Amino acid sequence: MSASLHAAANSAGGSINYRLARERTIMAYKSGEATRSEVCDAQSELMRNARECGTPSGVRCPICHEGEVVEVLYVFGPRLPAAGRCIVTEGDMERIRRRKGNFTAYDVEVCPRCKWNHLLRTNPVV
Ligand SMILES: [Zn+2]
Repeated sequence: MSASLHAAANSAGGSINYRLARERTIMAYKSGEATRSEVCDAQSELMRNARECGTPSGVRCPICHEGEVVEVLYVFGPRLPAAGRCIVTEGDMERIRRRKGNFTAYDVEVCPRCKWNHLLRTNPVV
């Protein structure tokens, strides 16, 4: 299946779910195909955002099993930083909605302990 068909199969209303890709990455780690440093590679900025604007997900880390992962919400779009804008409050999102242009929200799962990180889903900001 091509990447675009795969994305279409998992999309609803313009949102794309990366659950299957996440499962594949976890399986690759469990089977020894991928090393821990390959799957737990969150950059320092993502780790900082996970601490400062992450929301608890109630999901135990699939790699280290030592604690909960947090979800960090980023928005990308015109006139935002190239690395995206980290969204903390509903007010932050409201300000993005009032802007002109197309914005996309990226929901990223991060483990503050072992640096595991994976994209969960993308949604158009409407
Ligand atoms: Zn972890």
